[in-house]
Amino acid sequence: MPFIVLDHVSKTYQSNGATTCVLSDVTQHVQEGEFVCLMGPSGSGKSTLLAILGAMSHPSQGRLLIDGIDVYDLADEARADFRREYLGFVFQQHHLMPYLTAVENVMLPLAVLRSPGGYKRQRAMEALYRVGLADKAARLPGQLSGGEQGRLAIARALVNDPPLLLADEPTGALDTHTGSQIMEVLLELGRQGRTVFIVTHNPESAALADRTIHIRDGRIQPPGAAGPGSADSRPSARLIGAPLS
Ligand code: ADP
Repeated sequence: MPFIVLDHVSKTYQSNGATTCVLSDVTQHVQEGEFVCLMGPSGSGKSTLLAILGAMSHPSQGRLLIDGIDVYDLADEARADFRREYLGFVFQQHHLMPYLTAVENVMLPLAVLRSPGGYKRQRAMEALYRVGLADKAARLPGQLSGGEQGRLAIARALVNDPPLLLADEPTGALDTHTGSQIMEVLLELGRQGRTVFIVTHNPESAALADRTIHIRDGRIQPPGAAGPGSADSRPSARLIGAPLS
């Protein structure tokens, strides 16, 4: 069974008596360990789909199964537990706490655990090590470069060791070089067996993914519909081992 099953998912909003359909009958399967990019114009439904995948927004119709679990069939508390156990989030704006050090930021998702502080710190240090920031653990976010802040956000998403990483424009605010460093960290996590699902506007990022899904007006476009030269019509650079530039 695929790791993620989006099964005829739709999302509509009601306002002032009008119904707006934001996602329309989305069916997609993602395999365990797959690295998937979602691309589409502004307003096409990418954030809405990511929120549904992140167990944060109930679909109006359809089901989401992750590792065989019907996510929106869970009671609220069980769904919160599911989120903690299964999901890591990386946001474009990083949402780092400016007055906490790097290691304290990474420890935040562990706050709910009833484990000793030393254990949490050790887990956070391991996550920082994985993104190459162990030597900057005592710095405040403002004392880190943009790329380092991005890696810090990834470390925080990783600290629970989730099997699925969701990222919204993780390279969006970064220059090309720094953005490709962040992509390299995400790709490495994918190579280690995590499933990674990212929203991106960046065709260079998308070209490195196993697969790119295109969305337009709330509908998934058939493969190849984005036209020749689109990221999903090329062989994956990741698969053919092209160097990062
Ligand atoms: P994207 O991430 O691709 O820019 P979004 O998923 O944020 O697109 O939004 C898709 C559409 O859904 C947009 O037209 C947006 O205005 C609309 N939308 C998003 N959230 C709401 C909401 N809470 N109520 C009504 N419309 C919404």
